[in-house]
Amino acid sequence: DFSEISLKDIDRLANSSFPLCMRHLFDKLRENHHLKHGGRMQLGLFLKGVGLRLEDALLFWKSEFSQKVGPEKFDKEYAYSIRHNYGKEGKRTDYTPYSCQKIISSTPSVGDHHGCPYRHFSEENLRAALGKMGVGGRSVDDILDKVRNRHYQIACTLTFEAIHAASCDTGINHPNQYFDASQKILQ
Ligand code: SF4
Repeated sequence: DFSEISLKDIDRLANSSFPLCMRHLFDKLRENHHLKHGGRMQLGLFLKGVGLRLEDALLFWKSEFSQKVGPEKFDKEYAYSIRHNYGKEGKRTDYTPYSCQKIISSTPSVGDHHGCPYRHFSEENLRAALGKMGVGGRSVDDILDKVRNRHYQIACTLTFEAIHAASCDTGINHPNQYFDASQKILQ
């Protein structure tokens, strides 16, 4: 089903319904006014998937990147790839948002913020990130236990269940599925 989100709702939606991988990228973008290529792709395609229209996507990225590199450089160097993600440049392929499997198997370097936090964060950083999402106590122990056994998507599912106080019987296999399931509960 097709839905659109409005730019003015994006911070509220990030807090309530983004999975940790996307929330981390979103927070880093707001903090640094910049993301490297892997992060721009992972977050950009996710946002497209949740229904951010191309015009709003350009406004959103420009409002952040302009603070770092200036509006001219944004228009020259970054706007193209955003339009490209929406199939408006180059081969005009309509690129699809990344699945958990693809994100988990990515290999972020130092300074990158893409990837899956359950797979790529240290235990200490993951604890802190979960705390920021409002997950604590027994739930954290259960989540970290899954992470130690390399069940990253189950760890993400447990996080979803702790945050929403609802079960997610299908499990999480795609960040956009996480978003949709969350919105279904919250709306
Ligand atoms: Fe994102 Fe999937 Fe990892 Fe959850 S399991 S944080 S949705 S990549």
